[in-house]
Amino acid sequence: MTAVRVGHLYPDYLNIYADRGNIAVLTRRAAWRGHELEVAALGMGDAVVPGEHDLYYVGGGQDREQLLVAEDLVRKSEALHEAVGGGTAVLAVCGGYQLLGRGYRGFHGEDMPGIGLLPLETVAGERRMIGDVLLECELEAGEKQTLAGFENHAGRTQLDPGSEPLGRVLAGFGNDGESGFEGCRSGRVIGTYLHGPLLPRNPWLADWLLAQALAHRLGTDEAPQLEPLPDELEHRAHEVSAARARSRGGRF
Ligand code: GLN
Repeated sequence: MTAVRVGHLYPDYLNIYADRGNIAVLTRRAAWRGHELEVAALGMGDAVVPGEHDLYYVGGGQDREQLLVAEDLVRKSEALHEAVGGGTAVLAVCGGYQLLGRGYRGFHGEDMPGIGLLPLETVAGERRMIGDVLLECELEAGEKQTLAGFENHAGRTQLDPGSEPLGRVLAGFGNDGESGFEGCRSGRVIGTYLHGPLLPRNPWLADWLLAQALAHRLGTDEAPQLEPLPDELEHRAHEVSAARARSRGGRF
């Protein structure tokens, strides 16, 4: 039994679309493999201690909530960079994803600082990008997977040239409705616009994150292989969501 330590950033502020369900999925999938997930809430003013957590999680939020946490997140930035440098994994969704970049200009022109953990910038546009999304991802060379979820964002995210998106958009808008890419990946850090919540219908990504967190916990470069689970319901949920995305038609 290994205790996987998760730091959940701002659960009281960044929590739309049942994003905290992602934690429930990680907890169950860890337990089914005989591991325990210890989840600590990290709110305003709480210190991030590098090495103390194996995975950080940040959910989505509206511009108002993002504005409330942005300055506090900047105060945690140095510690988060140090943690990630030491191999801690991160999953950030939508509003959390935007704040992991260099900054986000909200719908009303508010300039919010980001922490530059991911090589990107975001500016809100006039029209919201809403609907089901389907991506093709290849986090491990030669292993293509699809990721299904739901997006609702005004932010248009531009990745720096040469940086790695999380996936290629098969249906939906993605980062900016134009590039054909969604999300961003840098080592063990994943940012994405996909809610749902994301992990219940994409168990492969839940296991990838768990394996990265376990690697940090165990101090190994190589992520451990997790025992496969049947995932019948999960695959059906994925298919329903993927089919909705495929039938969505054009982008704007
Ligand atoms: N407020 C951000 C936007 O509209 C993020 C929204 C979200 O987290 N769903 O782009």
